[in-house]
Amino acid sequence: NSDIAMYRAKELGRNNYQFYDPEMNELINRRAQLEKGLRKALELNEFTLYFQPQINLATGHIIGNEALIRWHHGELSMISPADFIPLSEETGLIVSIGEWVLRKACEQNVAWQKAGFSPMRVSVNLSARQIQQKNLVENVTEILQQTGLDPQYLELEITESIAMHNEDYVIAKLHALKKLGIKIAMDDFGTGYSSLSYLNKLPIDTLKIDKSFLSDLKEGLNAEICSTIIAMARNMRLTVIAEGVETEEQLRFLIDQKCDEAQGYIFSKPMPVEEFNLLFRSIEESAAAKVS
Ligand code: C2E
Ligand code: MG
Ligand code: MG
Ligand code: MG
Repeated sequence: NSDIAMYRAKELGRNNYQFYDPEMNELINRRAQLEKGLRKALELNEFTLYFQPQINLATGHIIGNEALIRWHHGELSMISPADFIPLSEETGLIVSIGEWVLRKACEQNVAWQKAGFSPMRVSVNLSARQIQQKNLVENVTEILQQTGLDPQYLELEITESIAMHNEDYVIAKLHALKKLGIKIAMDDFGTGYSSLSYLNKLPIDTLKIDKSFLSDLKEGLNAEICSTIIAMARNMRLTVIAEGVETEEQLRFLIDQKCDEAQGYIFSKPMPVEEFNLLFRSIEESAAAKVS
């Protein structure tokens, strides 16, 4: 019935009238189902962290890893963070999920050090909602203390869109975080619209070149964007890391350009701890073999 349809469309916050559409209904149902699942996922222990190695291109050693959340939903099987992170931001659930991620990532890093792995940095993604949270700095402090992680090994990744929101507040927050001795990285760099003068005001340590710039390196423009970002990072005394490195050609290019670090499928996909352990040994062995 079209009256009901128009009413529903309005209710959905659309400003144009639209007739009831089963596909939209499907979408709304899926969203509701995801949201319900998300609320219980922490309790049900459905999240795990995967880790993706980050390689120092000059030495071949693993110098860090990025912690990436995975959700094994009971009924829907594996759900990509691209699907549930935005929803958890909208609902505010990201605050508790983010805390869980941070704690787990720090715990794991300490466990690796205790197991005799040479110390590496762990990078944890921080969402906009978490930056806005009043007690973020206290939470990070507490997690560092409780897990015993030396702050120099923790890096928090933010994006340009986070950084552009409420500028002065974000700058102050980042300075407070840096005072703890941790590092800050700018993720997906080059995809946002932050100005260089603003970037210069942010107390960041690392630039992560977005993976979109690594495609079609032969066609010229992306290659120039990459080399410009690398040169800029060098001038600003920032560490620069390329993400999404998949091919030998991309790796060769980055080494030629003296990019500091790389992360991508060419080395490894993000993986669970047990697999990461095996990979760690094999990468470290081949790095050692190169030297000797
Ligand atoms: P991101 O932080 O930019 O993470 C890098 C993404 O690129 C990861 O996707 C990773 O699996 C993928 N990737 C790495 N190497 C390659 C490659 O060589 N080729 C391709 N095609 N992809 C590669 P993932 O794990 O699906 O995460 C997607 C996004 O979800 C992340 O992008 C991040 O924005 C968000 N995310 C993931 N975990 C968390 C979390 O714990 N907290 C928050 N706030 N966001 C998270
Ligand atoms: Mg990231
Ligand atoms: Mg990224
Ligand atoms: Mg991202």
